[in-house]
Amino acid sequence: MSGRAAFRHGVHPPDSKELTAHVAIRRMPFPEEIVLPLRQHAGKPAKLLVGKGDRVERGDKIAEADGFVSVPIHASAAGVVTDIGWWPHPDGSMAEAVRIRVEKYSPQVPRPRLVPEWKGLSPAQVVQAVQAAGVVGLGGAAFPAHVKLSPPKDAEIDFLLVNGAECEPYLTTDHRTMAEYPERVQFGIRIMMHTLGVSRAVIGIEKNKPDAIEALRRTLPADLDVTVLPLTVKYPQGAEKMLIKAVTGREVPSGKLPMHVGAIVQNVASLAAIAEVFETGLPLIERIVTITGPAVRKPSNLIVPVGTKLRDALDFCGGLTDDVVEILFGGPMMGLPQSDLDTPLIKGTTGVVVLNEAQSKPRVTYPCIRCGHCLDACPVFLHPSKLGQLAQAGRYEDMEASNLADCMLCGACSYVCPSNIPLSQMFALSKNLLKKQKVKAA
Ligand code: SF4
Ligand code: SF4
Repeated sequence: MSGRAAFRHGVHPPDSKELTAHVAIRRMPFPEEIVLPLRQHAGKPAKLLVGKGDRVERGDKIAEADGFVSVPIHASAAGVVTDIGWWPHPDGSMAEAVRIRVEKYSPQVPRPRLVPEWKGLSPAQVVQAVQAAGVVGLGGAAFPAHVKLSPPKDAEIDFLLVNGAECEPYLTTDHRTMAEYPERVQFGIRIMMHTLGVSRAVIGIEKNKPDAIEALRRTLPADLDVTVLPLTVKYPQGAEKMLIKAVTGREVPSGKLPMHVGAIVQNVASLAAIAEVFETGLPLIERIVTITGPAVRKPSNLIVPVGTKLRDALDFCGGLTDDVVEILFGGPMMGLPQSDLDTPLIKGTTGVVVLNEAQSKPRVTYPCIRCGHCLDACPVFLHPSKLGQLAQAGRYEDMEASNLADCMLCGACSYVCPSNIPLSQMFALSKNLLKKQKVKAA
């Protein structure tokens, strides 16, 4: 690999990880109710299989995949389906969801194996098992993991790039996974290398996680070509294109994917999840989440059942302080603000960050002063101030012509803007509007 372990542009926000970087992962007890939206992954929502009044065991399939770019949803606790209806979703919308009243005295014991043993499976069988287990990328985008395991036949993939950057401030989910479960991450890498048929893997980790670097170096397999590459601490180092540039020096062209330059990128937590479903025989029904920020009393790294409500997770962490002003799912750079404590933590929820006045973004915005800071920050060399002006004027087609599609919504431009213009939020809205216009026209 000939990379420079960094990419050009980007920003250096305070990482604020000290609150949970050294806090061991602990398991949260089962809440009284879990809520499982049918839309928890990129692609088509799952199709409902249960009805009100049905009793479900932990691990039972309650909704099935609708096509290849979709995954099933499984009950994360034994209980009774009390309702199926619209419920607040982490993305701010309402989504169809299954409510399960958790059986209070159930031992919640693991089911007999629902996922086959890994040994002896062909690559196609691994892909099928990973989809059936409902595994998605746990780094935030929730892209079905089996799709990344089955690139097109003509794609020339020469290595697996393991994303351990975790560049979002505050979040320590991936960090703790690498430090506490390095063997599981290595097992996930083995499964993925076998399935993709690649002979090389590189694990990229930002240098602010020395214990994770040490743990993964200590557990490197003797029979596979896997290396650990410490990376410069810079935001957004964990964005796929930035990571590829930093590790290999290769540039993913506009409109292309990592596989077009020979790479498949998978996040460490997702690899650990792939390993875990084969180890335990259970589908993806729980995940590790960082609950942190200055306005939460006991910042923690927790294993939570998928579908745990925000309120229950916060209560388990001692509740909120009186000066709370904002709750985000995800980190402060790309996270989504939450307004309802009944919103569930879903498969793609990397963390909950609770901010007070001092740490939240200023709300008053001023006109653009053409300082150019946003241009210097943008890692994909866009012109954020111009895109912002086009967005304000509703000129969405012109934004497209100015390469809006390349914007990763990383928030680096908004972070540096002295006028507090919410550039990346404007770009997210514009992308959504353009998408809707296209669906309407089709
Ligand atoms: S949000 Fe988009 S425009 Fe802004 S810095 Fe990130 S990639 Fe560039
Ligand atoms: S950083 Fe803000 S004020 Fe400066 S050019 Fe960009 S949009 Fe304008």
